[in-house]
Amino acid sequence: MKVIKGAEVTAGIQAEIEEELKQLGGYIPTLAVVRVGERPDDMSYEKNAISRMKKFGMGAVTFTYPESVSWEEFSGEFQRINQDDSIDGILLLRPLPPHLREKELERMILPEKDVDGISPENIAKVFSGDKSGFAPCTAEAVMEVLNRSGIQIAGKRAVVIGRSMVVGRPLAMMLLAEHATVTVCHTRTKDLEQTCRQGEILVAAAGRAGMVTEEFIGDGAAVIDVGINVNEEGRLCGDVDFQRVSDSGKAGALTPVPGGVGGVTTAVLGKHLVRAAAEGMRKRGER
Ligand code: NAD
Repeated sequence: MKVIKGAEVTAGIQAEIEEELKQLGGYIPTLAVVRVGERPDDMSYEKNAISRMKKFGMGAVTFTYPESVSWEEFSGEFQRINQDDSIDGILLLRPLPPHLREKELERMILPEKDVDGISPENIAKVFSGDKSGFAPCTAEAVMEVLNRSGIQIAGKRAVVIGRSMVVGRPLAMMLLAEHATVTVCHTRTKDLEQTCRQGEILVAAAGRAGMVTEEFIGDGAAVIDVGINVNEEGRLCGDVDFQRVSDSGKAGALTPVPGGVGGVTTAVLGKHLVRAAAEGMRKRGER
């Protein structure tokens, strides 16, 4: 079984980003990370995203607000960031407290700065197979892992566990656009193990530590683990029981957690940021 390392995939993306940065004539793209409150998950993603943008030679600024921030103040701030020409892309960390209307913010964010694909315009593009927008970074990260590891997608049976708008659903559409035959599983799926065993590509994005065991794996399947969970011993782990699946020898390839899809997600964010910056410069007549 091949263990697919995220770092190998990221290296290829980084080389492309560096090439594209050279075309910007010294302009340094800047990401705005918008965070409300201090959820540890958000803070760790923010830290990783910022250090990754810096490593790629790009900038990042954070805008943080207390959970008590009013809708009026927050939406005003969000509009200001949206309109700021020195900001090329915006990453809004979610979920937000319920009084901060996520749906309205999704409609408010300028599609050309929406580097994590949350706006209706970008989502519609993903669902119609139009690649000119920004897809959610995690879903695209899975596609990068498959494509850059030489795993054929066209004609394959792909099974995705999870139907969230962040991962499962957009990913199913992206796999479909690349001509896979796609099945989406969720909490009401009957015969989950049997359905998953049909997958020549199996993507686990359920957020359930170690739920995917060898019984879920078809012979030679490429298994991509998107889950980021903390197990009973307090250790970071995926949705796939790595030990059991690798010991079984059934999978052809498997991504580890940590060290798999997570790092590729922030690399895709960087790829989107440089593209957003290039398009912004073109619009402003600077290139
Ligand atoms: P979510 O809770 O919004 O969605 C989970 C989905 O999985 C739901 O559609 C649900 O129906 C399905 N599901 C849950 N339990 C199931 C079960 N037992 N059987 C079948 N289906 C089940 O979560 P999300 O935001 O989509 O994230 C999923 C996982 O991916 C989480 O672990 C999250 O931390 C991780 N994640 C990773 C990255 C990354 O960069 N690698 C980014 C975002 C999310």
